[in-house]
Amino acid sequence: MTKDAETRKDDLRTGDSFWLHTPRITPPAGPMPARSGWDAVVVGAGISGALVAEALSRAGRKVLVLDRRRAVRGSTPASTAMIQHEIDVPLSRLIRQTGRARAEGAWLRSVRAVGDLVALTRRLKIDCDMQPKRALYLAGDDMGGRGLKTEAKARHEAGIACEYLSRAALRERFGIDRTAAIVSDASASANPAQLAAGLLAAAVARGAVIAEGVEVTDMAELPGGVALATRDGCVITAAHAVFCTGYEFLPSMESPSHEITSTWALASPPRVTHPAWLDQFLVWEASDPYLYFRTTPQGRLIVGGEDEDSPDRNEDPALLDHKAAVIGEKLRALTGIEIGTPAYVWSAPFGNTTDGLPIIDRVPGHERVFSVMGFGGNGITFSMIAAQIVAAAIVGKPDPDAGLFAFR
Ligand SMILES: Cc1cc2nc3c(=O)[nH]c(=O)nc-3n(C[C@H](O)[C@H](O)[C@H](O)COP(=O)(O)OP(=O)(O)OC[C@H]3O[C@@H](n4cnc5c(N)ncnc54)[C@H](O)[C@@H]3O)c2cc1C
Repeated sequence: MTKDAETRKDDLRTGDSFWLHTPRITPPAGPMPARSGWDAVVVGAGISGALVAEALSRAGRKVLVLDRRRAVRGSTPASTAMIQHEIDVPLSRLIRQTGRARAEGAWLRSVRAVGDLVALTRRLKIDCDMQPKRALYLAGDDMGGRGLKTEAKARHEAGIACEYLSRAALRERFGIDRTAAIVSDASASANPAQLAAGLLAAAVARGAVIAEGVEVTDMAELPGGVALATRDGCVITAAHAVFCTGYEFLPSMESPSHEITSTWALASPPRVTHPAWLDQFLVWEASDPYLYFRTTPQGRLIVGGEDEDSPDRNEDPALLDHKAAVIGEKLRALTGIEIGTPAYVWSAPFGNTTDGLPIIDRVPGHERVFSVMGFGGNGITFSMIAAQIVAAAIVGKPDPDAGLFAFR
């Protein structure tokens, strides 16, 4: 055994996240079960672990899910859960950064993943406010009207449907004054905690087991399997292990290609007056940092932004009110929507990669241990892709897109 599995420790939420006040966010968990006989141990019971556990249990595998916290109490309930195919790094820019094949492959896979996640949620009848939506991407200080025109062209060439809006068209249809925008389909929103809990419950119904308060600290690869040791001295063996530990990643996944930053979000009171079109859209902007917002079915505005390049500023509760005021004012200036005093305000660490793509791969030096790092603004979409790629690798039918998201 090594200390290879001592994952980072972080305050994954500061303040009060709205989703923790909603029902159906606690999946059935039990005490520590059998120590051997598992096909896969999934470390981490957030949205990534939930999707991986669901996919593996659907493939008939015996799955054990471990979390050092309670299930669904990491960064997943901090998410604003705008489920997007649009990646933080625009396609036109990603083509220049990584080449056309990889950039288009990643964007197309994201489009597919959003559709697959909406369909999966429906098939499993998960009650999580999953709503297919469109997205409105506004020109901002990082990309203006000309850049958005190039971006729309790149998406069309890749076969991704979208519509470029001039300033006049944007003002006419949405009442927003920016130099341009892109409207696209293939997006959705949901309650992220209910979604993760529902997926975990589906896995449990197929025989998966969730054990809470269990911290994995060591791991070793054995011939034909993996041994994981826990903080309290248990050793668990399985054919495979999948680390879905979010921003608390493994030390061996450290790399200059990703970083942890700080972000803030709020939920307004219900029934805030807003334009009718907003219920069908996610809105974000080509700015750095970017403002983003959407509604819930109860007429709350979920709004986020004001990111800072610091891994721990999010831990300061004294910043919450100020950040919420700035976010609320930016929303008002852009849309005219007055949210009043937010009902919930929270902050969290957030993971970014230099190319906007997640890291989904075997842990370096290991054949049977995988790591899922769904970093970026569409982390949930990336978790869906990760579940598909990791489950395919474990059942022995490698996914042709796996190389797009390899460790770098
Ligand atoms: C404010 C905010 C807004 C966001 N908005 C969006 C959005 O609009 N759309 C979107 O797609 N994404 C968004 N994201 C990103 C998305 O929420 C994340 O990608 C997602 O929550 C990560 O889920 P996860 O399951 O990987 O991690 P987590 O939910 O953090 O789960 C990881 C779990 O691993 C456990 N763990 C860690 N180490 C160990 C160990 N050694 N042993 C046992 N257990 C361990 C932790 O306790 C934790 O519960 C947002 C994130 C934030 C913070």
